[in-house]
Amino acid sequence: MFANVHRIGKSLLLLELLKGLRLTGRNLFKRKVTVQYPEEKTPQSPRFRGLHALRRYPNGEERCIACKLCEAVCPAVAITIESEQRDDGTRRTTQYDIDLTKCIFCGFCEESCPVDSIVETRIYEYHGEERGDLLMTKERLLKIGDLAEPQIAADRAADAAYR
Ligand code: SF4
Ligand code: SF4
Repeated sequence: MFANVHRIGKSLLLLELLKGLRLTGRNLFKRKVTVQYPEEKTPQSPRFRGLHALRRYPNGEERCIACKLCEAVCPAVAITIESEQRDDGTRRTTQYDIDLTKCIFCGFCEESCPVDSIVETRIYEYHGEERGDLLMTKERLLKIGDLAEPQIAADRAADAAYR
């Protein structure tokens, strides 16, 4: 009974509305934090988990040794790898696909890779318009790796002390 009277009294006096207006007033003249994307962008961490890439060594050789650890650890089953042995006895992938429509960007693939091959870059502005646009093939992943290598290497160096 008392609780009901209290609630009705609060409603009649518009106390909730006044509390809201007080909060608005307190922040009205404070520095604005809204970011005018895409002209303005927020800072990114070296650990940012964006679009994937496959890296190469400085001599152009692909790093991936087709150990399939990333495929095994992926919780979304988004990675598909096929491999074969080359004439020189080394093993390389013949197929390396990541289905971005399944990927949850957890970063487990990157964490599991023993040769720093599969990584997640800072790239997040991408989209797909047709079926298959978000299926990242080995060729596409290597191309992204080639383009983003300076930033990828700098980010790995910045984070090396914590790995
Ligand atoms: S980020 Fe996670 S979900 Fe995406 S491919 Fe890597 S392991 Fe799989
Ligand atoms: S990307 Fe790394 S973890 Fe995945 S198969 Fe290649 S070497 Fe193994």
